[in-house]
Amino acid sequence: MTEIFEPKIDIDSTRYLSICYGEPMVFHCHHYNVFLQQTIEDPEYLDTKPLLTNAAASCAYSQLKEMFSTEKGFDSPQSRFGAAESIFKTLGFGLLEGLKNQVTENGGLVRAKMSHYGYTWKIKFGLRDTPADFFTSGYLSGVMSAVYNKPAGYYVIEEKECAAKGDNACTFEVKAADSLLSIPKSPGKGSLLTRLPERERLPGNIDEPAILKALANLPLVGNEEGLIPAFGVYLTRMYSNYYNLISYGFEELLIKHKGPQMKNVSRPLLIEAGHVCAFNTFGGIMKSPEWYGLIFPMIKNREDWVHGMVAAINALGWGKWTVKELIPNERLVLIVDGSYESNGYLSIYGKSKTPECYLATGGSAGLMNLIYYGDITTKSALDQNYYNRLFKGKGNFKCEEVLCRSKGDDHCEFVVTKTA
Ligand SMILES: [Zn+2]
Repeated sequence: MTEIFEPKIDIDSTRYLSICYGEPMVFHCHHYNVFLQQTIEDPEYLDTKPLLTNAAASCAYSQLKEMFSTEKGFDSPQSRFGAAESIFKTLGFGLLEGLKNQVTENGGLVRAKMSHYGYTWKIKFGLRDTPADFFTSGYLSGVMSAVYNKPAGYYVIEEKECAAKGDNACTFEVKAADSLLSIPKSPGKGSLLTRLPERERLPGNIDEPAILKALANLPLVGNEEGLIPAFGVYLTRMYSNYYNLISYGFEELLIKHKGPQMKNVSRPLLIEAGHVCAFNTFGGIMKSPEWYGLIFPMIKNREDWVHGMVAAINALGWGKWTVKELIPNERLVLIVDGSYESNGYLSIYGKSKTPECYLATGGSAGLMNLIYYGDITTKSALDQNYYNRLFKGKGNFKCEEVLCRSKGDDHCEFVVTKTA
């Protein structure tokens, strides 16, 4: 069963989430993934490598433990490694083949034929001097612990070669750690809403249920290389807890080292990562053949571009987005029920004093900048010049999260307005 095993991803259609063995999964592109990592790695005075690695260990360990205890047939290391390879490939993280031949309970040397992080770092930023694939390092640590029934943090992984350094592949040395590493506990599904409120949608011309159904049937799974090329980007179906643990963990580290005022630094940095996400993923979707085949025929005016894109966002596993108010080229108010950021934040930290949905804040601004300020309807090239114009230009759109579940509100609300 090891060769043909395919991980089961359950769609929670009432909460607009996707769950794979207890771990919520969200679609995000390589631009967001490596930009977010670069942001977190950037401050030289912080050691963020353990953060980036241990968060992945946490998610993989939690997921595989759940899988091995609920599915039949995972009694041997061979079958367990097969499942770990299959998940890695299906979700677009790359290709780990023959794990069972590469390691024993004592460790070994693992070669990833393809790595999403290693490969896409190189194509986005060029080569670097040090290994880049902290995600796969952590993933392997979680896999090893789950396969051999060890506690999380039992194995330490060192990436020896990395595609982002110019090596042919990424290789990882796996060995037992001298002492147990401190792996955060995954919040799993997180703090879920019991039920989502019924909401009035603005009357656009978009048939959202039809779009959700069509997008759910797109084969957005890893190809023979373990990559998901789609909409002009490389997608991953990433653990939402990975994003939450590294983003909020980064903020926590900054504050610990430099004081509480650092929230004024981390917030714009993490919102900027949201701009990068919107620009590339939303921009890519709104230029794609799928958009022009499926959504464009429903569009009767520019406002429908917003409604159509929000419908597409609702297929990403990010929670439920609803357009509350839209004044053309002026103002957008979005409601998000059960955002993956708030589900995770509340579960990890409890109630916050400030709004915490950075990705959705950046994404909401990006929506208006792409559709009104930058006119994505002309299929503009998604290059650095266009990005700078959209997000650094005079009179562009900015977003503020005015209500957030993480601070006790019953939903998150985003107001996007024009800057002076
Ligand atoms: Zn929020």
